[in-house]
Amino acid sequence: MKKILVLEDEDNIRSFVVINLRRSGYEPIEAENGNMALERLRVNPDICLALLDVMLPDIDGFEVCRRIRASGSKIGIIMLTAKSQEIDKVTGLMTGADDYITKPFSPAELTARVDALIRRLGVDDQEKASVEVRNGPFVLNTRNRTLEKNGNRLKLTQIEYMLMKLFLENPGKAMSREDILEAVWGADFNGELKTVDVNIRRLRMKIEDDPTEPEFLTTVWGYGYKWGF
Ligand code: CA
Repeated sequence: MKKILVLEDEDNIRSFVVINLRRSGYEPIEAENGNMALERLRVNPDICLALLDVMLPDIDGFEVCRRIRASGSKIGIIMLTAKSQEIDKVTGLMTGADDYITKPFSPAELTARVDALIRRLGVDDQEKASVEVRNGPFVLNTRNRTLEKNGNRLKLTQIEYMLMKLFLENPGKAMSREDILEAVWGADFNGELKTVDVNIRRLRMKIEDDPTEPEFLTTVWGYGYKWGF
């Protein structure tokens, strides 16, 4: 999870930001004054972005921003400014901030700005590799839960997606219908094994060029299915 420093002295605003970051899958690191923020950054060198309030009891947010940049850090910095602080935006960007958000802001605005900056910083690039499972013409994206064949998005049901994930993560491995049923529907599912066959048949119609002669999702006679030959 990506760590985000939240520097804000007002408890209610800080918890509002923290809750919304958590909801969006980030790990917030809290600081209620400037010195604490710098200390948090020192202890957590993997923080990738900082949200800095301007008006603080000790050193102000601009100074924190300036010190972060002076240390050579290239983390993303978003200033949290009050409406009346129009001039702050200019100062903030001059001291090395990447963006600013004017208070009061909505959860949607906050996460949109954070996501956008994270994307711009390219923090996502490393994770992208691990969310994509590639096999032949197929690319399964485990974050978006999508499947592409030759670059074209295929419309899958959640069950079909989970079947694809199971097969692509176990290429060449023969899987019994019992195994498949348990892996996709769960151990508590009391359905029939035929459920597996029905869904495999439907999935084949979407992924195979010729569903009657499957070349990807093949049958292991008397046992189950596997990916490939
Ligand atoms: Ca403040």
